[in-house]
Amino acid sequence: MANHLKGIMAQDEKKRTLLSDLGEFGLIRRIAAPVKLKNESTLKGIGDDCAVLHYPGKRIVVTTDLLTEGVHFNLVYVPLKHLGYKAVTVNVSDICAMNAIPRQITVSLAISSKFSLESIDELFAGIHLACEHYGVDLVGGDTTSSLTGLTLSITAIGEADEKELVYRSGAQPTDLLCVTGDLGGAFLGLQLLERENELFRQNPAIQPKLEGYDYILRRQLKPEARTDMRQIFSDLGIHPTAMIDISDGLSSEILHLCEESAVGCRLYEERLQFDRQCVAMAEEIHINPLVAALNGGEDYELLFTVPVTEHDLVRNHPDITVIGHMTNQSAGACLVTRGGMQEIPLEAQGWNLLKK
Ligand SMILES: [Mg+2]
Repeated sequence: MANHLKGIMAQDEKKRTLLSDLGEFGLIRRIAAPVKLKNESTLKGIGDDCAVLHYPGKRIVVTTDLLTEGVHFNLVYVPLKHLGYKAVTVNVSDICAMNAIPRQITVSLAISSKFSLESIDELFAGIHLACEHYGVDLVGGDTTSSLTGLTLSITAIGEADEKELVYRSGAQPTDLLCVTGDLGGAFLGLQLLERENELFRQNPAIQPKLEGYDYILRRQLKPEARTDMRQIFSDLGIHPTAMIDISDGLSSEILHLCEESAVGCRLYEERLQFDRQCVAMAEEIHINPLVAALNGGEDYELLFTVPVTEHDLVRNHPDITVIGHMTNQSAGACLVTRGGMQEIPLEAQGWNLLKK
């Protein structure tokens, strides 16, 4: 990935075909050509006025995410193929957060004249790859022109039985708070990309130094939604009482669970685990990796609660870490620092911090 990024930052000259030569219908045909429908619930995909879906006896979950160039992504160091993949991932992650199965997506985009057909092909190569990986069907969308860069909106549709769905609102005051994977990597990967991009802007002769940071770069540029957790929960015989995915940072996601469930929380600093590269990058930019986990966001891990009686079922699973417990609402939502020294109220910073 590091070498690929050097190429991006060096802005390689590539073949350019104007989108206007192809026209909107030509572009749609090109986007639709590689689509092979995989799901029984997709009766009709691209090619009519609407897609037709069939979900007998199921609950249907729907989520949308809107990404705009310059606000949510910087194409100087985000390859379009990665952007396409990630845009699908963030939607699939929301479906996973309901404990549902992703089935279909629609993709809508507004494109400015600076984008060639080759660059839109790259974007859709990432989208098609994600559809393959997550087993979802691309069933529709829209394309239009834009005056100011790229805007990308994806809607994802999924299914579950009502008894399988997990809402944000079911946490009880005695439940354990658990998280999948490790946190902070996506934010620290972004800091690395921003830093190297800035150095490159000042002196294009300097090649970006990205070696040894593959993990955090992947966390930022090619995050994976936790589609595996539904099966893991089922295998462990547990049903989370509440769940949310971590898109804006642990702190604000905990506060969402607390608010929707009307409970409080104690999050233990010493329970949070960090990847070696996160620790190294945090040290380089003089922050505590804890800050990256709490306020960084974009990790797309799952945060969930289970009854305390299920402690033995979750404590030894390699993908799950118990990081705290819920309390009565009156106790508030606090971080307990190492050794129980201090209790610090959690604050929702989320993307405000990334915005600076
Ligand atoms: Mg979410």
